[in-house]
Amino acid sequence: MVVAACNAPLPVWPPADFPPMKPMERRELLRLAVAGASSLWLPGTAQSQTRFNSSPFTLGIASGSPTSESVVLWTRLLLPAATDAAWEREPVAVQWEVAHDDQFVRIVQSGRAMALPELAHSVHAEVSGLEPDHWYFYRFMAGDAISPVGRTRTFPRSGAKVARLRLAYASCQRWEHGYFSAYRHMREENLDAVMFLGDYIYEYPGAPNGLRLPNMTSSLGFVVTLDDYRARYALHKSEPDLQAMHAACPWLMTWDDHEVQNDYAGLQAGNSSMADIFSKPADFVRRRAAAYQAYYEHMPIRAATLTKALNGLIHHDSGAEMRIYSRVDFGNLAALYLLDARQYKDPQLCSKDGGLGSSQVNPANCAAWSDPRRTMLGQQQESWLSGEFGRAVQSGQTWNVVGQQTLFGQRDNKPGAEQAFFNDGWDGYSAARSRLTDALQKGAVRNPVFLGGDVHENWVGHIKGDYAQTQAAQSRAAIGVEFCGTSITSRSGGNSKTAERLAENPHFVFADAQRKGYGVAEFTPGQLTTTLRVVDDVTRRDTRIETLASFVVQAGRPVVEKI
Ligand code: FE
Ligand code: CA
Repeated sequence: MVVAACNAPLPVWPPADFPPMKPMERRELLRLAVAGASSLWLPGTAQSQTRFNSSPFTLGIASGSPTSESVVLWTRLLLPAATDAAWEREPVAVQWEVAHDDQFVRIVQSGRAMALPELAHSVHAEVSGLEPDHWYFYRFMAGDAISPVGRTRTFPRSGAKVARLRLAYASCQRWEHGYFSAYRHMREENLDAVMFLGDYIYEYPGAPNGLRLPNMTSSLGFVVTLDDYRARYALHKSEPDLQAMHAACPWLMTWDDHEVQNDYAGLQAGNSSMADIFSKPADFVRRRAAAYQAYYEHMPIRAATLTKALNGLIHHDSGAEMRIYSRVDFGNLAALYLLDARQYKDPQLCSKDGGLGSSQVNPANCAAWSDPRRTMLGQQQESWLSGEFGRAVQSGQTWNVVGQQTLFGQRDNKPGAEQAFFNDGWDGYSAARSRLTDALQKGAVRNPVFLGGDVHENWVGHIKGDYAQTQAAQSRAAIGVEFCGTSITSRSGGNSKTAERLAENPHFVFADAQRKGYGVAEFTPGQLTTTLRVVDDVTRRDTRIETLASFVVQAGRPVVEKI
């Protein structure tokens, strides 16, 4: 058995010399002969002589999309707004290094990637040919500047015996609602990876009752244009605890609605108070394309997610798909599925007053509620996922972990016989949810575990194959377990109704609608242990953390036990 623990020390964050302020002796703009806007990766070019008058690595570094032999290394060159930076209109060559040690004595690989102005000088170095199940250090160099050091890892090969996987899941980091201090504690959790499940940014102008205001944008405060989205990501990426966590291990990324707009569904705009200005169909297609481009620019994800390459993004009218759903294996221990339940979904049904966006809906008053044609994942993703589930037993992983945006199990929000469901979540797409659970059962998929976000509350419970209110359906065994996580900062309504909502939905065993933080799921061949970690106070940078509750699930038995 290989124990996938990390013996390498965490790099100190922030580094003592970060950001290094250097006097600008001279500035020579690098002009690369081969900087075609359509090519993302270029072979080695002349050494950059660019001199920066302060570190261009102020947004930190990150790694992600790990496989057993490859990982994406990310950074984005950016100087403070007031800085005169002629290079911002030019491509800049950035060197990257991967090493066994944090002093970069034993270098494993190095290479060069172009930071293009068309992609906001982001860098996505897709490093391959690495050893499986291995920790590495990495850093970037641009001109005379050197980035902080990050640590990342490859996953064990599909069939390899693995003793342990420690995964954090997190979502919903609204800037104005708190500091991202949870990540300072997450750094101490000895994790193999972070699964981020959506709402990395919020597109709102901010509200006066917040802890702090987000940066104002060019569009009446709402994030709408490409420049707006870039600025909002840069704001979030300026948080030192978030940077530090990105530097500590690879992240697996998916998104939810706020990376574009509250409650959007596919190519239909969602709802915000500016909906009438920004939700005309053509405007929204462009807005979504701009949002997707900025997402790519700021996340450690692969160029293959850009299904139409750069053209799909620059020509905003085309719809700009980004295919971010994926599967990756952690040895024979876990198959990790990342879903996209936002880009391809049908519009919400029966929203209030026929408007856009989400509502609580009583299915008795909504004729199309159970229409089998309705989709959450889109036809292509759904058949991809069914195919994966069909092969899951043969593939042999003990745990099948589905990371997706929101609460998966049914949750009736109205006590008593009458029902009220949130129409933006899986409850609003019940036929699609049934198809997914049918595929799990048909494939006899071992130990399904759903991780989610979106609701800003911790919900822990059992996935059922049938949510009918009949006694027969209620007594049917669970087919999997669910841990829907709270937010890093985003506010929630508090616990005044939590007990009655739990009673109304007995397939859930635990809920909390108050505390903020993240979850840690530790998988071993015999069991899953999930710990809900919550901070005392998101409005304090020095907030402490504690365990809200812990749960154990034995392999082979989809029952959540509180410990
Ligand atoms: Fe959220
Ligand atoms: Ca009810």
